[in-house]
Amino acid sequence: MNQPGESGAAETFAELLARVQACTVCAAHLPHQPRPILRVSPTARLLIVGQAPGRRVHETGIPWNDPSGDLLRQWLGMTRDEFYDVSHIAIVPTGLCYPGTVNGSDLPPRPECAPLWHPQLRPAMPDIRLTLLIGAYAQAYYLDKRRGRTLADTVRAWRDFAPDILPLPHPSPRNRGWLKQNPWFEAEVLPALRERVGTLLATGDNGGAHKHI
Ligand code: SF4
Repeated sequence: MNQPGESGAAETFAELLARVQACTVCAAHLPHQPRPILRVSPTARLLIVGQAPGRRVHETGIPWNDPSGDLLRQWLGMTRDEFYDVSHIAIVPTGLCYPGTVNGSDLPPRPECAPLWHPQLRPAMPDIRLTLLIGAYAQAYYLDKRRGRTLADTVRAWRDFAPDILPLPHPSPRNRGWLKQNPWFEAEVLPALRERVGTLLATGDNGGAHKHI
């Protein structure tokens, strides 16, 4: 199987997306047939990297179509139409398929997924100027050793990752306690998030030199 740019004619964006959607690499570990859920376009400016689809997202095929997505849109100050405008906003989780649950909690994203697909998808979206890393799994994959000791440490250091990256906590209802214990997040990070995303979507500019992640 050719990787983009490997040999022969260059793979089109649609061909790359078709390969992603046909992926069965970790099918043996999934509770259902693989159903990769992502929204991508070659013109996207903002990339949202979350954890992995939950059951409701798996069933509807629409990412962030759940209470976590409602809170994320509230954080961003966006309507559903704005959020799902794939010409501007790409959504690629750390694990593209629903990994199942254990004792009522979602399992982690499959570890095969991000190293396989993110390095292929990311160069196919050259206009991305800001990546929101939502939750510990996205931060672990993209930041690796640059992560803080805790998620709060990483998010609190958000200025260190500007202008290309903004780490955020997961907007899951399970994280209400974290949000209450860390009021600086709403006071300090959310206004910056809204301002940066608003400027980016309006102008294509992230307010700093592009570093390429
Ligand atoms: S989780 Fe990722 S690697 Fe596994 S089947 Fe789905 S797309 Fe492929």
